[in-house]
Amino acid sequence: MIDSNTFSQLQPLPCPRPNNRRQWVIAGPCSAESREQVLDTARALSRMGVGLFRAGVWKPRTSPDSFAGHGRIALAWLMEAERTTGLTASTEVATPEHVVDALNAGLRWFWIGARTTANPFAVQAIADALAQHGTSNITILVKNPINPDLELWIGALQRLYNAGIKRLGAIHRGFSTFASNQYRNDPQWQIPIELKRRIPPLTVFCDPSHMGGRTELIAPLSQQALDMGFDGLMIECHCNPATALSDKEQQITPTELQRILESLVVRNHNLASDNLSELRQQIDLCDDQLLDIMKRRLDLCCAIGRIKKDNNISIVQAKRYDEILKQRIEQATQLHLDPQFVQSLMQLVHHEAVRLQLDILNNSHHDDNPKMN
Ligand code: PEP
Ligand code: MN
Repeated sequence: MIDSNTFSQLQPLPCPRPNNRRQWVIAGPCSAESREQVLDTARALSRMGVGLFRAGVWKPRTSPDSFAGHGRIALAWLMEAERTTGLTASTEVATPEHVVDALNAGLRWFWIGARTTANPFAVQAIADALAQHGTSNITILVKNPINPDLELWIGALQRLYNAGIKRLGAIHRGFSTFASNQYRNDPQWQIPIELKRRIPPLTVFCDPSHMGGRTELIAPLSQQALDMGFDGLMIECHCNPATALSDKEQQITPTELQRILESLVVRNHNLASDNLSELRQQIDLCDDQLLDIMKRRLDLCCAIGRIKKDNNISIVQAKRYDEILKQRIEQATQLHLDPQFVQSLMQLVHHEAVRLQLDILNNSHHDDNPKMN
């Protein structure tokens, strides 16, 4: 379990909140493909004031037949890009050997890929290598695991923090799903929002490239991330995407990136306003009432549960449940509430009612003072 001390020494990363420069954007190709490609892309990006340069040199590919990166020799291209453009170079590390090679080459910014975050042994091995070879001035960004498991994501951050890495950030790149939808990786925004609630000082980036998987989704996903208060973006950018050796469909040119960045509306993180606090007081009042009503409703469910028990009636009454759902969804439409939302809410309430009635049936329901109103 994490408590308020667990990440107490996290340091802010030198990226959040743009002024006119774009320190909060990490951009660069999916893979470092050649010295020319790395330098051409980095030069174009440095003219736009992007904060950091990214390029993968070890690529975790699904198929063994795909381009897997040039490995160690490509680190020299990244360092040349850093020296000649002033951009800070970053790359993905997945093993202790990668860490040692990248540190020896002079890199100081790394990210951990989604497939690696999902593997605690791999993350621990990386953390141990960093602890052994140096943690000062090192920044690590941890991508979410491919599966939607917040605890695994936090666990990976903890392993690195415990190894002495205090400049830590997270990258939200969406989650793998079997059923395909419009995204390559489903955003499930509630997960990074909960991450930020649990670790407030953590800098959190969004990677709309791997999330969307298609160039046309990069602008809307980036805007959505900024609207929700993400600290920065990681965007795949290639000087000639048509020839890219990996993730061709989602890479944009530096010119396209510039156009997108100019179109984005950047929001303030903290807004102190009287109007806001007044509205928040009203929200608190609504929530009070919601919980009171919920308590009354579930008490009624318990009363029904006792009658079902006394009369030996089964708990789930599919016909009644179906009527409730249909009626509430119709009511939601009249109230201009999202029917999908109301359906999920009623399903959750029904689930809790069934749980309580099962407890009653099995005599494990303890409520000394059932309030019936
Ligand atoms: C990448 O950033 O190049 C990458 C492999 O991403 P992910 O781990 O999010 O799939
Ligand atoms: Mn990629």
